[in-house]
Amino acid sequence: MATNCLFCKINSGEIPGKFIYEDEDLIAFADINPQAPHHYLLVPRRHIPTTLDLTADDAALIGRIYLAAGKIARQLGFAEAGFRVVNNCNEAAGQTVWHIHFHLLAGRNLTWPPG
Ligand code: AMP
Ligand code: ZN
Repeated sequence: MATNCLFCKINSGEIPGKFIYEDEDLIAFADINPQAPHHYLLVPRRHIPTTLDLTADDAALIGRIYLAAGKIARQLGFAEAGFRVVNNCNEAAGQTVWHIHFHLLAGRNLTWPPG
């Protein structure tokens, strides 16, 4: 656990989160500032700052993020309509929390390209 990391604190329970999914390696909780009717963050429990810090050993972990996204989409009923999984890496992409996370967005027509 990284001290002063928001998502490590949500993982440990020190800061509350509205959890919708958890397993041994991952948590998913509601984004505090939702950009769509469904907006969740899929987060590895282990502190990894950005996509650039991943190693080959993390390949299965990132694969499980996508499996969890599909599972949540089916469970919450927006799989058929469609959803988006987004990871922002570093400032220009809009990353503001330095613990890797994947946004899961659904519940409205999402435009492309993103802003
Ligand atoms: P990013 O800008 O890609 O790093 O995404 C960080 C996300 O974390 C933003 O969408 C924020 O709304 C969200 N966020 C910040 N603080 C909290 C919190 N305490 N609980 C849930 N989501 C949060
Ligand atoms: Zn962290």
